[in-house]
Amino acid sequence: MSEETIFSRILRGEIDCDEIYSDEMCLAFRDIQPQAPVHILVIPRKAIPSLREAEIQDESLLGHLLLVSAKIAKLEGLNHWRTVINSGSEAGQTVFHLHIHVIGGRKLNWPPG
Ligand code: C5P
Repeated sequence: MSEETIFSRILRGEIDCDEIYSDEMCLAFRDIQPQAPVHILVIPRKAIPSLREAEIQDESLLGHLLLVSAKIAKLEGLNHWRTVINSGSEAGQTVFHLHIHVIGGRKLNWPPG
């Protein structure tokens, strides 16, 4: 059982978000602290804490999230973008409900910090 997070509350509509896409498996909304001109989060409706806890039965869900993230990036007019999944606090994860960052609209440096 995963712990309640702010993303569960967003999914239940208890906290507002700037929604840009929704389907039966996921929700996408603009990050409240954007790190680039386009910064969108794609989150599964299923509360998986991080990629570390994802299991084989989540395989099609994870594929769906990636395809949705690419569809959204293209809808936002991006030709170049970065998809990021932080797994664990030392990797920068702060919300323990798996999510994909879609970041673009500026030159992105590599490696990330
Ligand atoms: O990968 P990480 O867990 O750090 O990403 C969480 C992201 O969720 C942050 O970029 C933060 O700005 C975003 N966030 C949000 N809306 C909230 C709470 C967090 O967009 N209500």
